[in-house]
Amino acid sequence: MRVLITGGAGFLGSHLADRLTDRGDEVICMDNLFTGSKRNIAHLREHPNFEFMRHDVIDPFKVEVDRIYNLACPASPVHYQYNAIKTIKTSVVGAINCLGLAKRVNARVFQASTSEIYGDPDLHPQPESYWGNVNPIGIRSCYDEGKRCAETLFFDYHRQNGVDIRIARIFNTYGPRMSPEDGRVVSNFIVQSLKGEDLTVFGDGTQTRSFCYFSDLIDGFVRLMDQDATVGPVNLGNPGEFTMLELAENVIKLTGTKSKIIFKPLPQDDPKQRRPDIETAKSELNWEPTVPLEEGLKETIGYFRELLEL
Ligand code: NAD
Ligand code: UDP
Repeated sequence: MRVLITGGAGFLGSHLADRLTDRGDEVICMDNLFTGSKRNIAHLREHPNFEFMRHDVIDPFKVEVDRIYNLACPASPVHYQYNAIKTIKTSVVGAINCLGLAKRVNARVFQASTSEIYGDPDLHPQPESYWGNVNPIGIRSCYDEGKRCAETLFFDYHRQNGVDIRIARIFNTYGPRMSPEDGRVVSNFIVQSLKGEDLTVFGDGTQTRSFCYFSDLIDGFVRLMDQDATVGPVNLGNPGEFTMLELAENVIKLTGTKSKIIFKPLPQDDPKQRRPDIETAKSELNWEPTVPLEEGLKETIGYFRELLEL
């Protein structure tokens, strides 16, 4: 298989590149290095089945591939809000470019969608049939609506042009190779703990998220892409649900830091609760996560400790 991964130098993209090159696929990794880094793929540079292409997914491209995984898009609220217009262009124009290519070369194409599709959900846990509660004009909209529009484009190319699509709705995923400057909660709390800084809990910390370890998620990606029956959307995430205060306390315990918890204002439209209903992934892909939060956190703490040389 020749595979294009857009966003391949990012946290998830680089792990996917590992998984696919390991099994003998030829991987072309396309990335503009906005939030990704060469460090994430340094170990693959000499691999005979790996190629890096510095390119922006919003600019047209043509490569001969059998499969496309479209992961290009900043995922952290800090980074996707940095240039909101660019973020929505990346999702929408990036999806059009991937789908156009898939149509021309007859490739199967995967979209890294998100639980943000559900917005601030009033149905809990969230099944794929839920249409969501998304503010179309808020500070998170560039990401949420961009990803929603990308899903629409995927289904329209599928219905209208017969493009072979797969859509995964990814819930909060963490692990080694997240950037220390990423800004998402798991990496923030770990980096703050290791540096002896206070942990910044936004709001009163009672909002919840469900955290999936990267290796489980990548396994779900590959299962979804390798089967013929289900196009999705399929929720991929770990149903274990925690408040941000619980997460902070867990990270403090596991790092053994003397850092304290401090409270900062809750950002606008921050979802109050989030947990995936993974019945579809279980029944259609025979997939469910296996790594408990504490185990994944220990691995991730080890990674950041080495990276920050602490
Ligand atoms: P990440 O920021 O580490 O990776 C995103 C990658 O895309 C980076 O390497 C970045 O440089 C690249 N990129 C951004 N804009 C680009 C552009 N215009 N052209 C080319 N490359 C571009 O984040 P991640 O966690 O690895 O996320 C990967 C994908 O998964 C994203 O599409 C994200 O929306 C989706 N996702 C992730 C999570 C999660 O919890 N990790 C949850 C839901 C969805
Ligand atoms: N959060 C926090 N402190 C931080 C970063 C994030 O309390 O330093 C909270 C944030 O308000 C949200 C949750 O953690 O309620 C998850 O945030 P993240 O940015 O990781 O992802 P989201 O699921 O909001 O996209």
